[in-house]
Amino acid sequence: MNNTTTDSPAKPLNFLEQIIKQDIESGKHNKVVTRFPPEPNGYLHIGHAKSICLNFGLAAEFGGECNLRFDDTNPAKEDQEYVDAIKKDVSWLGFNWAGDVRYASEYFDQFYEWALHLIKEGKAYVCHLSADETREYRGWATKPGKDSPQRDRSPEGNLADFEKMRAGEYEEGACVLRAKIDMTSPNMNMRDPMLYRIRKQSHHQTGDKWCIYPTYDFAHGQEDAIEGVTHSVCTLEFADHRPLYDWFTENLPVPSTPKQYEFARLELSYSVTSKRKLKQLVDEGHVDGWDDPRMPTISGMRRRGYTPASLRNFCEMIGVTKSASVIDVGQLEFCVRDDLNNTAPRAMCVLNPLKVTIENMPEGEVQIMTQPVHPNDESQGKRELPISREIYIDRADFTEDTTLSRKKFKRLVLGQYVRLRGSYVIKADAVITDENGEMLEVVASLIPNTVGENPPEGMKPRGVIHWVDANDCIDAEVRLYDRLFSDVAPDTGDKNFLDAINPESLTILSGCKAEKNLVRAQPEQSYQFEREGYFCLDSRYSTEDKPVFNRAIGLKDNWANKA
Ligand code: ATP
Ligand code: MG
Repeated sequence: MNNTTTDSPAKPLNFLEQIIKQDIESGKHNKVVTRFPPEPNGYLHIGHAKSICLNFGLAAEFGGECNLRFDDTNPAKEDQEYVDAIKKDVSWLGFNWAGDVRYASEYFDQFYEWALHLIKEGKAYVCHLSADETREYRGWATKPGKDSPQRDRSPEGNLADFEKMRAGEYEEGACVLRAKIDMTSPNMNMRDPMLYRIRKQSHHQTGDKWCIYPTYDFAHGQEDAIEGVTHSVCTLEFADHRPLYDWFTENLPVPSTPKQYEFARLELSYSVTSKRKLKQLVDEGHVDGWDDPRMPTISGMRRRGYTPASLRNFCEMIGVTKSASVIDVGQLEFCVRDDLNNTAPRAMCVLNPLKVTIENMPEGEVQIMTQPVHPNDESQGKRELPISREIYIDRADFTEDTTLSRKKFKRLVLGQYVRLRGSYVIKADAVITDENGEMLEVVASLIPNTVGENPPEGMKPRGVIHWVDANDCIDAEVRLYDRLFSDVAPDTGDKNFLDAINPESLTILSGCKAEKNLVRAQPEQSYQFEREGYFCLDSRYSTEDKPVFNRAIGLKDNWANKA
């Protein structure tokens, strides 16, 4: 098999690998446990793929385990649809989570107990300030905060009040439970952060059992502690939350003390990697769903024909750092092209068909040509290509202009020769046009004995072009995708990312002609359409009568020269 991942033993360990290696060598941990903790409020995108590869990859590398845990603490935005999609995406990327999927909501009883524990210890209180007042009381970096009027209430008073919160006696927003830490801390996260808020909403896992829900901060570290996570890896924006993460594990009777580490989130050029903004693209109909092949979502990339290996290779290639940087989307495209070049079966499909009649081929005669499915992988076998009197070539592969040099135009020119891929050399003899001068058809002749053989002297083909048999091919629609955004950084500064949408990101070609072997095409199985790029069957729009193929990526990087 072809394998594009090169395991270079010399590759230096990234900072997380170094930490884990040390923790194992020092005996601090004998088993590594990591987790991937998505919030089920959208589909996963390429940034999540990086986090998945990192967390599952670290666990695999050090013989540990990685949990898949849904951080489902905010019922308002969450949905079962997202839970299912996320599970599918993680599996598709090639990773197995340890045991069952976990949900933060499974621990709600425990969180509640721990909230009571903090209240009893005088370390948490129910605060009745409004949202605006809370903001005002918090102060800012250089201005210490002010104490809430409820801050010094007795544990008994707080217990009773919290019980009322839980029983649904207060309206949403009327009060919250806060930790009592330090209203003067230079770290705003330590200024009595919120632990619980009222949300009178059904939850996709717990139904109507709760009307109070823990905050991310209160839940996250404790989820890690319950699960025995050793290394809790998150993105840099949580670095300021780390003291709070540690405060909880120090002040609660948790069963283990996980540690949080931060790495730089993945940002891609020409892309948006914010679930909220991706949701906006879907909700406002700028794209055709979360799995639109132009979306940087895992499901979109899958539908488009990207492979799990190409995404894993990409994540490996860009590495893990502590400083934010934008990765060129060309690197992702490189990985896709590289993997598909090594693995994708070959096929021929004519996107803009031009009929060619081979006059010296008798009517009704069919010859069968044979081609490898993959030029460098014999194990993929061979495929048969019929050829008869009528074939299609691409309009762009023929010209009447005989002044074009051989170097410039390595295709078919009137009066000259070209090789049909895997078949004969043919000569273009004449052009048939309609009354408006529109080209209808090329009349050609084949040069006998040229299958796999050079033609006689003086009949030098200009190049090799693809073709399909007009009498035995399938009609197909082909969808060409370009980048969804034409701005290298659509989501920076005060730009509105919607303004940067590329109006030419989708081109639909409906009259394409594909070799008949493609009736076996399945979604997610990309083919190289020779000379055109990599394509796979669309899982949504294909019908038995008319397959629709998505272009995953062209053969060459067309943007590299655009600068
Ligand atoms: P978004 O900002 O797009 O909503 P999020 O971080 O809120 O993303 P989560 O579902 O909470 O989404 O993310 C799950 C995990 O994936 C978290 O550990 C988060 O750090 C990580 N993650 C999210 N976006 C990226 C990214 N761009 N690069 C690397 N990791 C990411
Ligand atoms: Mg998040």
